[in-house]
Amino acid sequence: MAATVIRDRLLTDLPDAPMSPEAVLAEFESTLLPLCKNEASPRFMGFGDTGDDQCALMGTLLADLTQQNMINQSFDSPSATFVEIATVRWLRELLGYDNPAVAQVCSVWDVGGFITPGGTTSNSVAMMLARENAAPDTMRTGVRDPSRCAVVVPAAIGHYSVKAALTWIGCGANLIEVATNGFRYDLAALTEALREHEGSVMAVVAYAGDSRTQTVENLRAVADLVRDSDPGIWLHADACWGLLATFSPRLSGLVDGIAEFDSVTVDPHKIMAIPYGLSALLVRDPSVLRLVSTYSDLIMQEDFAFGQVTPFIGTKGWLSLKLWMMMLGHGRAGLAALAERRVAAAARFAGLVDAHPRLVRINEPDLAAVAFAYLPVGIAADGVADDPAIARVNALNVAIHDRIIDQGQWHLHQFTVPDDLGRLRRGAILQPLRFMANNPKVTEDHMRAVLAYLDDLAAEAEGIQQ
Ligand SMILES: *Cc1c(COP(=O)(O)O)cnc(C)c1O
Repeated sequence: MAATVIRDRLLTDLPDAPMSPEAVLAEFESTLLPLCKNEASPRFMGFGDTGDDQCALMGTLLADLTQQNMINQSFDSPSATFVEIATVRWLRELLGYDNPAVAQVCSVWDVGGFITPGGTTSNSVAMMLARENAAPDTMRTGVRDPSRCAVVVPAAIGHYSVKAALTWIGCGANLIEVATNGFRYDLAALTEALREHEGSVMAVVAYAGDSRTQTVENLRAVADLVRDSDPGIWLHADACWGLLATFSPRLSGLVDGIAEFDSVTVDPHKIMAIPYGLSALLVRDPSVLRLVSTYSDLIMQEDFAFGQVTPFIGTKGWLSLKLWMMMLGHGRAGLAALAERRVAAAARFAGLVDAHPRLVRINEPDLAAVAFAYLPVGIAADGVADDPAIARVNALNVAIHDRIIDQGQWHLHQFTVPDDLGRLRRGAILQPLRFMANNPKVTEDHMRAVLAYLDDLAAEAEGIQQ
């Protein structure tokens, strides 16, 4: 349904008369619910943030019903604060960060991280830490020299949140984009960029699973290279997707080296079937969070008041309860099985794509994402496609995606991404489709059915174009 139609139906005046709770609920059921997306449907294959883990749902409801406030501990969240700390420690352990012994956890500055509503907030705090590390006391004085606040990111595959964070924290949109190869940094180009911009780089960001193809960076190689070049540079890993690999000893080699990074963002609401929003920022050295702390007599200056260490956030609900319950509900073994099942499902879909004569796969799946394009009649994935051929591929895939959105029966995602593996032509900007294997309800039958559906849409689109 067109947005303006929904707008005209829902932007109504507030009535004078009160409504009963039953009537409010009936209004929700009849007017809003039928128009909601259903990401837990096995036909919704673009993302897969199903948010339907039973224990996580239980935690969501109980957190709302108990109305704890993480800003203070003593009177606001006596037990909830320690659930928050326990989940942060579980996440740290998965990443390979050291945790202090329980008896040494004497304040929020001994925890080594905190829960935020999303990866964007977590990445923003990471950039603040990089800024304070490069220019101590900027919290008090403001940014004095934005030219020394540059952040290195991989070109064309980075997430917008890093650039946005730099603009929000007064550093300016000071990104240095470095060439990639197979959706990972070209290490020679990274070395060269650090040499060229010596003295002005405050952070290097690496993706443990970029937001398009979920390719995991060569984290150890990047960390070694950056430390050799300038040990003062802040190393941040965005593991919004890559946290998944830490669940299983069979997959954790993918993120080898992540514990060398100064900070890591994880996004459980993207990969653990947890309702929005839940992310965490974790730091290698817990004490660095003092660099971005806030002191006020409105926040209790007590040892365990999280309000002191969470920039941008004051009052905060008990977000961590849903994660705590989900992790207890699965245990280490269940989390490992969940991760392995997704990677296997992505491999199965990749196999179906490869066996299809009109499809070309754009990435080698590390995690759960498979990006692929439908090839127009007469165009081969031979690595030497010319510009008109690339334009035809993109036009067909955009037309297919438009029909998918219009019909609302299936969902695959679409974005622009460089052809980093040179399937059509290295460096060409493609607009492929993406399948994501996050939803356990997606079976091989669904995978075959969505590809058959694409055949129909492609035939229809090409019929119109001819
Ligand atoms: C989704 C995502 C983010 C932002 O996280 P939100 O939870 O949407 O705020 C940051 N980085 C990557 C790689 C992501 O995929």
